[in-house]
Amino acid sequence: MKKKVITCDTLIIGGGQAGLISANILSNLGYETILVEKSPILGGGNSSFQNSFGDTFDYGYHALDYNRSLFTSNFFKSLLDNEINVFNLKRGLLLNNKIIKYAEVPNKWPKDFKITTKKVKDNIDVNIPITKKKLTKIYGKKFTEFIYKKVLYSYPSLIKLKSLGHSEKDLIQQVYPWFFPKILKTKKAKTEFQLYHDKVRNEGNQKIMYPKKGGFSQFMEAIVKNSNPKYLNIFKNAQNMKFHFKDEHVKTVAFNDKIIKAKNIYWCTSLTYLAEMMNINVKKSDATKQEIILGSFTFKDKIQTNYHEILVGDPNCNFNRIGFPKKLSNDTVINTLQVEYYFPKGEFLETSEEWKKIWTKQLKKAGIVEEENKLLEFDFKRYDAGYLNSDSNTKHIKELQKKLNSKSSNIFVPFRGEGPENINRIVPTVFKNVIDKITTQQ
Ligand SMILES: Cc1cc2nc3c(=O)[nH]c(=O)nc-3n(C[C@H](O)[C@H](O)[C@H](O)COP(=O)(O)OP(=O)(O)OC[C@H]3O[C@@H](n4cnc5c(N)ncnc54)[C@H](O)[C@@H]3O)c2cc1C
Repeated sequence: MKKKVITCDTLIIGGGQAGLISANILSNLGYETILVEKSPILGGGNSSFQNSFGDTFDYGYHALDYNRSLFTSNFFKSLLDNEINVFNLKRGLLLNNKIIKYAEVPNKWPKDFKITTKKVKDNIDVNIPITKKKLTKIYGKKFTEFIYKKVLYSYPSLIKLKSLGHSEKDLIQQVYPWFFPKILKTKKAKTEFQLYHDKVRNEGNQKIMYPKKGGFSQFMEAIVKNSNPKYLNIFKNAQNMKFHFKDEHVKTVAFNDKIIKAKNIYWCTSLTYLAEMMNINVKKSDATKQEIILGSFTFKDKIQTNYHEILVGDPNCNFNRIGFPKKLSNDTVINTLQVEYYFPKGEFLETSEEWKKIWTKQLKKAGIVEEENKLLEFDFKRYDAGYLNSDSNTKHIKELQKKLNSKSSNIFVPFRGEGPENINRIVPTVFKNVIDKITTQQ
């Protein structure tokens, strides 16, 4: 069968957050735009689903920090016509089978962590980059060892990155600042990340927004609904995608029964994948895919919890986070929860039935669910989430980004991310980059 050739101004690869916002801007400004998504659903990392009881779960716990970027909050508020709840996030930490309030002061932490903070002065810098020396000075030896030996080791993806040449010093930045007790305010915070975490930890007050109904995917659906269908064509389920390159220039993109020729290609998915196709130096053996597995539970009786989410830093638990979706939707009866676990692809091959048993046992042991509470439904999902790249691959990908800036390239990257990034950073960045791009192009 002969493939149908379609031409357009811009072809967007990837229907996640970055791709959908680009499509929204371009179509509303009258640019002929095509968005191609390989999966059957839009939203990428921000999708939701329902189980047979009609209970809504997201693909991994999701919440949007409110007013972390005013632009992002106002963008979604206007798209959803204020159909959102804004509230203070309650976060817990699960460590050594104990639940502790996030940003709790050291003297309220369980005694077995033995945190010493006597030496802390109010000008101490606990911001990134954090080092073992700095942590020991602030929290004492025992607690620092606990973070390096237990909390870090509860993240199989971080351990893989260590084996791929990343330093322990870099990896600890990803655990920090979640798993540390509250201490005095720092004075040296400068970046958006530092300032935000400083504020959250010190004020213990993190406001978030969440759609009133339908889960986190409502944010994504609202972007699509508010795009201009006259100028936007979306193709989901794109199979057998083939990119025809001339150096850094994409001549055509073929999938299903179509060939697309576009002046501009907006790359809104993994850069590792692009680098592989363009034969940039990235070594396949140095790029491990990361998997996420999700267990979504509906129980018969109420689950007693004060928290919207619990972060888990315990190598005896095969999950990194527990989320309570009904709490986020402001329901009165909380009988659902979701666990999520990240690891290098292929590291855990247990079946859905096996995970159900493992997780149920671990949740009961940690006292999250009472022994006699009956499980009514369990849903298991497994999906790929980005790449774990070696240190040298990370450098090659940066080189790729430089190549894409050359005049001969028609590939544009509205947001340069390789893993889960905070949406408050994605939204304004995509807007800025797309507007800059279209105002400077001929
Ligand atoms: C479990 C989890 C929890 C998170 N929680 C939060 C949170 O609470 N708050 C927050 O702010 N952020 C959160 N994030 C981060 C946020 O969801 C992501 O940073 C955001 O989705 C990234 O958007 P993106 O468009 O760059 O990439 P993605 O969402 O990954 O979208 C990329 C899209 O491209 C598609 N694609 C891939 N290859 C191709 C191809 N060859 N052709 C066509 N399409 C392709 C994919 O199917 C996908 O739809 C979370 C992420 C995860 C994974």
